[in-house]
Amino acid sequence: MTSCVDLRSDTVTQPTAGMRAAIQAAEVGDDVYGDDPSVNALQETIAARLGKESALFVTSGTQSNLIALLAHCERGDEYIAGQAAHLYRLEAGGAAVLGGVQPQPVEMLADGSLNLDAVRAAIKPDDPHFARTRVVCLENTHAGKAHGLERALKTRQLCDEHGLALHLDGARLFNAAHALGVAPNVVAAPYDSVSVCLSKGLGAPVGSVLLGSRSFIHRAHRLRKMLGGGLRQAGVLAAAGLYALNNHVDRLADDHRRAERVADTLNAWCPGCAEPATNMVFVAFESEDLQLLKRHLFEQRILIRGPRWVFHLGIDDSAVDCLMSHCAALVQRFRPPLEQRVESGRSS
Ligand SMILES: *Cc1c(COP(=O)(O)O)cnc(C)c1O
Repeated sequence: MTSCVDLRSDTVTQPTAGMRAAIQAAEVGDDVYGDDPSVNALQETIAARLGKESALFVTSGTQSNLIALLAHCERGDEYIAGQAAHLYRLEAGGAAVLGGVQPQPVEMLADGSLNLDAVRAAIKPDDPHFARTRVVCLENTHAGKAHGLERALKTRQLCDEHGLALHLDGARLFNAAHALGVAPNVVAAPYDSVSVCLSKGLGAPVGSVLLGSRSFIHRAHRLRKMLGGGLRQAGVLAAAGLYALNNHVDRLADDHRRAERVADTLNAWCPGCAEPATNMVFVAFESEDLQLLKRHLFEQRILIRGPRWVFHLGIDDSAVDCLMSHCAALVQRFRPPLEQRVESGRSS
């Protein structure tokens, strides 16, 4: 069953006709020997775009973050990250399991940056009782929210005071750049290492890129091999990533616009029930209402997973019309979320 609208994630995108043609035409070689011209072109292009010395094409965002942590840390070292950070919560504890690198989670702000007092308090002094703190990790965007340059620069300053590295999980870095109205290299600038997903909103079928200094990427290259991520004629995949970088970055603004339009319409029907954040909308329906809506939409071949609805290149304006027409009757009957009811009760 092909669905008319799949809002479960921006990972569900299908390669477009243009991307398939780029894959078809890709020149390839053995990337373990550094011989694949398409992989090399992707790495050089994104390194230049993000203002870093070097880049490494890797299998996934999870592998990219893991390689970054292993490259910044030795066994017995630790990384600091937000409680809700993808690389801490949603990557199977890889750095601890495979690298003997201890996580030190701290309070995370809603925009994916960290409470700097919490970071400062978590940094360990040089004392044999403690693991050695080596790197701080931020995420941009986090849950669709972008944090601005000021927060990143303050974190950078704190890291410099303590001799720590700073890593960005920028799975959706290009969405953050759009939201902040700055060039992608400005978002990447404060960080020693940056991970970017090609397989989310950019619409490539596979792959992420890890970026940093030449010496950092040299270490990362060995670790990628160790983790089984050394691929051979990977140019067929890199060509898709390069096509995405050249054709699918500017159009992210369309996803953000559609997310806003959907949130506005839902809020007109049920005040305060929807919040847009870059290419996502978070709905605050009561759980029975959400389950009812999910079943109803499923019958119309519209897929949602939960309260997070994600917009991507597989969803055009007519798909949004289709979604809204099938939401209308139900959402108009939903009660606004509790806080909204309390607030409107107070103000009346
Ligand atoms: C998706 C995602 C990852 C991991 O990417 P995979 O390719 O699914 O392993 C890491 N961080 C964030 C913020 C993500 O959204």
